[in-house]
Amino acid sequence: MNFDRVDNLIRQVESSIQVTGEFNKRKELLVGVDLGTAYIVLVVLDEEQKPIACEMQFAQVLKDGLVVDYIGASRIVRELKAKLEERLGVELTKAAIAVPPGTSEGDSKTHCYVVEGSGMDVVAILDEPSAANAVLQIKNGVIVDIGGGTTGLSILKDAEVIYTADEATGGTHLSLVVAGNYGISFEEAEVIKKDSKRQREIFTIVRPVIQKMASIVSHHIIHHKVSDIYLVGGTCCLEGIEEVFQKETGIRTHKPTNPFLVTPLGIAMNCKV
Ligand code: ATP
Repeated sequence: MNFDRVDNLIRQVESSIQVTGEFNKRKELLVGVDLGTAYIVLVVLDEEQKPIACEMQFAQVLKDGLVVDYIGASRIVRELKAKLEERLGVELTKAAIAVPPGTSEGDSKTHCYVVEGSGMDVVAILDEPSAANAVLQIKNGVIVDIGGGTTGLSILKDAEVIYTADEATGGTHLSLVVAGNYGISFEEAEVIKKDSKRQREIFTIVRPVIQKMASIVSHHIIHHKVSDIYLVGGTCCLEGIEEVFQKETGIRTHKPTNPFLVTPLGIAMNCKV
C-alpha cells in the first residue's frame, strides 16, 4: 500500500502542533477529541478538512479505554480546548469523539459528558478503527489500532465494517514489561520505549508481548478472509512491530510513517457541522 497521501496528511497534523494554519473565521471548524488511555488529543480542521491546529497531553484518566477519572479528564479537555481557542481566536463549538469498539452506551455517554462539559456539542461518536479508516480509506483488510490500553480492530469487506473487537492490551503493557526488566518506574520506561535510539534495545524485551497482541488479532480474524493488516495507534510507532505482526499472523502488514495521529485526525474528519 502506498501511504503517500496518508503520510502527507499526518505531516500536516504534526506541523499544526507548532504552527496554526490559516483559516476562514466565518466558517465552522471541525474538532476531533481522542480521549485515550495514554494521551488526550484534540485535532482541529478547517471546513475543507485541512489540519490547522492540534494540542495533546499525556494523561492517565482512562483505563482500558474507559474514563476512570472524570474530573481529571474534563479538566484536561477544557484546558486543551482553551489553548486551541487562544491560538485560533475563535470558539470551538462542535466535536466528534471515538470510543473503543463494543463500548457500552453508558460508557460512550461518559465520553460525551467529558467533552460536552468543555462546552462543545458532540455531533458524532465513532469506533476508533473506523475513525482511522476515514484517513486510511481501506476497502478490504483489518485495521488494528494499538493504543495505550486497548487494541481495537475492525475488519472491512468492500468498504463495509463487518466485524469489530476490542482487547485490553496496548503500549501501557509494553512499558510495564520494560519497567519490570530494568527495575525502573513506569514513567522512565515510557521515555525509553518512545526513544527511537533505544527501541532496538528494548525490542527483545517487548517482542513476546507484541507476539501475543498479534496472536489475539489472528484469533479474531480466523473466520474471515483477510489479506492485509493495517496498523495504527501510538504503539505501532515501535520500529519493527509490523514485521512481528506479519510473521506471527502470516498476513501482509502495513503501517503509515507515523501511526500515532491517524485516529485523532479521522475523528475530526467525522465532525459533521
Ligand atoms: P487507547 O486507544 O488505548 O485508549 P490512546 O488513545 O492514548 O489509548 P494512542 O495515543 O494511540 O493511544 O497511543 C498511546 C500509546 O502509544 C502509549 O502507550 C505510548 O507510550 C505509545 N507511543 C507513543 N509514541 C510512541 C513511540 N514513538 N514509540 C513507541 N510507543 C509510542
